Amino acid sequence: MKVLVINCGSSSLKYQLIDSETESVIAKGLCERIGIDGGIISYAPAGGEKQEQQIEMPDHKKAIELVIGYLTDANTGVVKDLSEIGAVGHRIVHGGEKFTKSVVINEEVKKAIEEVSDLAPLHNPANLIGVNACEALMPGVPMVAVFDTAFHQTMPEESYMYALPYEYYEKYRVRRYGFHGTSHAYVSNRVAEILGKKPEDLKTIVCHLGNGASVSAVKNGKCIDTSMGLTPLEGLIMGTRSGDLDASIVEFICKKENISVSDMLNVLNKKSGVLGLSAGLGSDFRDLEKGYNEGNAGGKRAIEAFVYRVVKYIGAYAAAMDGVDVICFTAGVGENSGFVRKKIVERISYLGIKLDEDANGKRGEEIAISTADSKVKVYVVPTNEELAIARDTVALA
Ligand code: AMP
Repeated sequence: MKVLVINCGSSSLKYQLIDSETESVIAKGLCERIGIDGGIISYAPAGGEKQEQQIEMPDHKKAIELVIGYLTDANTGVVKDLSEIGAVGHRIVHGGEKFTKSVVINEEVKKAIEEVSDLAPLHNPANLIGVNACEALMPGVPMVAVFDTAFHQTMPEESYMYALPYEYYEKYRVRRYGFHGTSHAYVSNRVAEILGKKPEDLKTIVCHLGNGASVSAVKNGKCIDTSMGLTPLEGLIMGTRSGDLDASIVEFICKKENISVSDMLNVLNKKSGVLGLSAGLGSDFRDLEKGYNEGNAGGKRAIEAFVYRVVKYIGAYAAAMDGVDVICFTAGVGENSGFVRKKIVERISYLGIKLDEDANGKRGEEIAISTADSKVKVYVVPTNEELAIARDTVALA
């Protein structure tokens, strides 16, 4: 079956057409600046030339119309007509407590996604617009919702509750949800496969280190804790997000700078993290590493603090699971930066980990970076959220 995977943001739309039998990408691309002047769409068929076009996309429906146009184009398309696309998988950011796994989308599901939109006001409405646009253009094709939060729904109460008045949980469902769940699920299952073990027999820590970053503790195939919270702001230091901090800082800075709470949240989400710590060097780890190696104080400060936070979470999750068998690195930084991985692994030698320096020098490969005699195994496992979405979509559709 050919499955179209859609990841809709408020002004962007990523897509991949995947052949579920071979699990290969048939075509992929990105629509940017939807609803904003200067729209741009890209289309890359496997083995073919990448195309880019500047075109206004007033809404997501127009963007999906253009995507379908590219996929079915007589010369450079990859399907004869839409009937070849068997199902559509949608990435949905927040499933609240309602969705513990992927589901076929119907009116009731759409309503439930809308109901939890106040927990992800930037993402869920955009995700739903994508669903509605696909339904309008591809009537009768099954649509599946795959939630970023679903994998973390196995967390026990002790790890998902905040120590706030209980009524906030009862009234507003304020609790830790966690994100990047599709990636944590894919990577923890994949590493079990590589090790020739069942996920039920492993204690795994997954470090998803990208522009957004999170760690999860996966015990016997189930997530028991993760670093992101009610929103993706909590946990690790990220590209531009602060991660964990003392909540009192919010009022303190609001008063000092005479700004509102929402202004401050914008600072915490968009101007903090390694971007903030590096004092302007940037949020991209390639620039930070370069700065670090050239003696830039901001680059050093940002990377050392980022590494330290990851090290603390690994220690906490090894304790939470009463041990750890395997640690996995994934996402942009985790897959590509041997520099950052080495700095992390060097600080957790107490776990009996020995780094294989040659293997760690590789980039973007599925590879063991611990030596054969390392007590705890360390792997790089490139994440593949689109494939995970396609698999769930085929299973349900
Ligand atoms: P993601 O959010 O998973 O797409 O990750 C994006 C981030 O990965 C970028 O902001 C970079 O910081 C980082 N990244 C990508 N390639 C490299 C590389 N070769 N070395 C270090 N960091 C990288």
